[in-house]
Amino acid sequence: RVTNFAAGPSAIPLEVLEVAQNEFLNYKDSGMSVLELSHRSELFESILSEAETNLRGTLNIPDNYKVLFMQGGGTGEFAACYLNMMASDVIFNKQQSAPGGKQLKCAYFITGIWSKKAYEECSKIGGSPHAIVDAKKYYNGAGYFGLPPREEWDMPKPEETAFVYYCDNETIGGVEMEVDSIVPHIDPSIPIVCDMSSNILSRKFDVSKFGIIYAGAQKNIGPSGLTIVIIRDDLLSRNAPNNTSYIPSVLDYKYFVDQGPMPNTPPTFAIYMCGLVLKHINRIGGLSTLENNRNAKAKLIYDVLDAFPNCYNNPIDKRYRSKMNIVFTMKDKSLEQKLLKLATENHFVEIKGHRSVGGFRISVYNSITVEQALKFSELLVSFAKENSQ
Ligand code: PLP
Repeated sequence: RVTNFAAGPSAIPLEVLEVAQNEFLNYKDSGMSVLELSHRSELFESILSEAETNLRGTLNIPDNYKVLFMQGGGTGEFAACYLNMMASDVIFNKQQSAPGGKQLKCAYFITGIWSKKAYEECSKIGGSPHAIVDAKKYYNGAGYFGLPPREEWDMPKPEETAFVYYCDNETIGGVEMEVDSIVPHIDPSIPIVCDMSSNILSRKFDVSKFGIIYAGAQKNIGPSGLTIVIIRDDLLSRNAPNNTSYIPSVLDYKYFVDQGPMPNTPPTFAIYMCGLVLKHINRIGGLSTLENNRNAKAKLIYDVLDAFPNCYNNPIDKRYRSKMNIVFTMKDKSLEQKLLKLATENHFVEIKGHRSVGGFRISVYNSITVEQALKFSELLVSFAKENSQ
């Protein structure tokens, strides 16, 4: 197998793939493939409930939070989180409006391309998003390199704020929030909505500090097609103060809870795989192991980038360097193809940066081992020694 540094869909541990392979044609003596199981069958219902129990255990999710297995990816959630938190405002003529009849603000930290897209989606479907910070402007338009300091934040008053939104790890830019860089500075009365698509299950955090957490599965959880939403239950009535909801059912968190856990056909195979990944995580020691590995892998690669500044450049503020997606460019652009070729020859694949930013991006999600990161860092060292003065 190659070392797959793709940003998502991304590598899945071989042990997990092997379990799936063994069970594939005849799942638990049912005489059919897991792909063919009805979502209403007892076998599938236990796959789903086991996956939920394991996710709850691994992330220590409190009882007053619901876990939803949805579809639509991160992009679906850009709309869903806004609609679920605000639709009644828009549809019922500002029923939950702020004092003085003002519309509640949806307040966004724009720290990269994904949070910018969420902000734009809010505006596209009727909201008036407010930017707490726009990191690109803070860095004079040069790029998204970190989180601007707190003096730069334009925080609306708590009583005028419907929710605060941020992206915990900006997958394209390689910017990751430190655990305490945003959450402790938000008034606790404001629900925090967080996109954890590309770093969930990689480190410990306190779920109880959030209103909504969501993540597309295709990076650290399993295959694409599944989106996990974790929501504090008191927020479910936001969209339906009269117990009537007016948003599309597939995006409606309350509908999933009331009719749930499967109001329509869920992505059964992705949920099955996600369940296997969660069992694997438990076997290897849970979040503590994953967090130690993540720190070790990121250090191995960043240390090399820093050791050879004549060859590599990572522009991100060191406090916000992502431990999941490590981006860099070459000082000498003409060397890019050469590095790409060398990497491919050594079975390291998918190292090109996102098409919108170029350069390189090494995604070291949970399935990448410390040993694989070490081997790649050694390749970077020998390349730098050979190609830069
Ligand atoms: N948010 C983040 C942080 C992402 O990395 C991505 C995709 O890679 C998305 C949202 C969009 O997710 P999807 O492609 O599942 O719509």
